[in-house]
This record gives sequence, C-alpha cells and structure tokens, in this order.
Amino acid sequence: MNAMSGNARVTVARRGLMLVLSSPSGAGKTTLSRRLLQRDRQLSMSVSVTTRTRRPGERDGVDYHFIDPARFQEMVAGDELLEHAKVFDHHYGTPAATVEEKLRAGSDILFDIDWQGTQQLRARAREDLVSIFILPPSQKDLEHRLYARAQDSAEIVARRMAKAADEMSHWAEYDYVAINDDVDACLEEVHSILRAERLRRNRRTGLVEFVKGLREI
Ligand code: 5GP
Repeated sequence: MNAMSGNARVTVARRGLMLVLSSPSGAGKTTLSRRLLQRDRQLSMSVSVTTRTRRPGERDGVDYHFIDPARFQEMVAGDELLEHAKVFDHHYGTPAATVEEKLRAGSDILFDIDWQGTQQLRARAREDLVSIFILPPSQKDLEHRLYARAQDSAEIVARRMAKAADEMSHWAEYDYVAINDDVDACLEEVHSILRAERLRRNRRTGLVEFVKGLREI
C-alpha cells in the first residue's frame, strides 16, 4: 500500500443546482420558499423582474425588481433573461446575471416561477434543474388561502382561482410533487429533495480522482 497516496486528499466539490418551486398561487409556496432559505445557507433566491405593481409589504430588489414594460422589453431584446413569461396580465422574468457564476461556485439557487418559465429552464439547463410542483391538499383549502390573502380584488381572486386549474395541469412535467397539507412536513420533504439532489454524481467534480486514490492499494 502506498501510504502517501493513501492519505492524499482529493477535494470533491460540486456544481450548484437550480431548484424550481411552482404551484398555483395560494398553495403556500411563498412561505415554503422563505422558510427553506432561512434554514439552508447554501441556497439563495433568484429575484425576478416584473412589470406588475408592488403589493403592500413587498420590497423592490428583495421580492422582485419592479420595472416598467419598456425596460422589460429591453431585457428580453438584450438576452438578459434566462426565461420569461406573461402570467395574468403582467410580465415576469429571471435575470441571467450571476446565475452561472453561482452555479460554478457550488451555490444553489431557488426559483419561484411558473410552468412556462420552468419549461424554458428545462430546455436550457436540464442538468442543473430540479423542479418541484407544490399542490394544495384540496380545492377548498386553495380557495380559502386565496381569499385569506385579501390583497387583491375579488375579481382578481376569481381569475386566479380559474387559473389555478390551468397551472395545476402541468404538475406531471415536474421531477417531484409535494402536497402542502402541513407546512412543516412539506418543508421537510422539499429540503430532503434538495439534500439528496446535491449528492447526484453528475453534479460532483473530482470524484474520478477521489476514487482513483482509493484504489491505489
Ligand atoms: P405573483 O404576482 O403572485 O408574485 O406571481 C404570480 C406568478 O408568477 C407566480 O406563479 C410566480 O411563480 C410567477 N413568477 C414570478 N416570477 C417569475 C419569473 O421570473 N418567471 C416566471 N416564468 N414566472 C414567475
């Protein structure tokens, strides 16, 4: 046995991943995202741009970058967005800046985007993408949560309810599905997926050298 090579340390690093959470609005995705970010320091949020107006309590640059339609079109034309979509009457998009840098540095990025954006990311970055669809436990529950939010007009709530069914029809395009019956349990599930996905062989660099070192006996 070669003691030197037997003790040699080879660093096994990994590429970061893109974790996408999608759901119909009112399924509790925002709370899940916030709590996941609080408990996992290797994860940071992708802050989208949007042309919709700020809701009470939302902060520019934290919840979204609130921009006007002209700037949005400029970003699309300049290929500054990794994906973009029109959701309800507004435009949303993911700024491309820093994403690749973070992935290369081994940092994971959380995306709260809809099915249209997820399809685009899947086409662009299949290997880096881990997608989870969050479902509400029942239709009643979804309705209740949409009304409880009460920040939007009744008309908007009704439209969102109608749109929820459409959004949910895309659940089978996702890698994982989690049912948000109990937020703590659902958070555990989402975190388990993240932790397991980090260990995927194809995200890890230095493994070949590492195993080679193990076999030098
Ligand atoms: P809200 O206006 O309630 O914050 O978001 C409405 C919907 O837009 C949500 O389903 C959310 O996931 C989606 N969304 C937010 N940001 C983006 C984005 O950058 N791209 C896409 N495709 N959807 C987004």
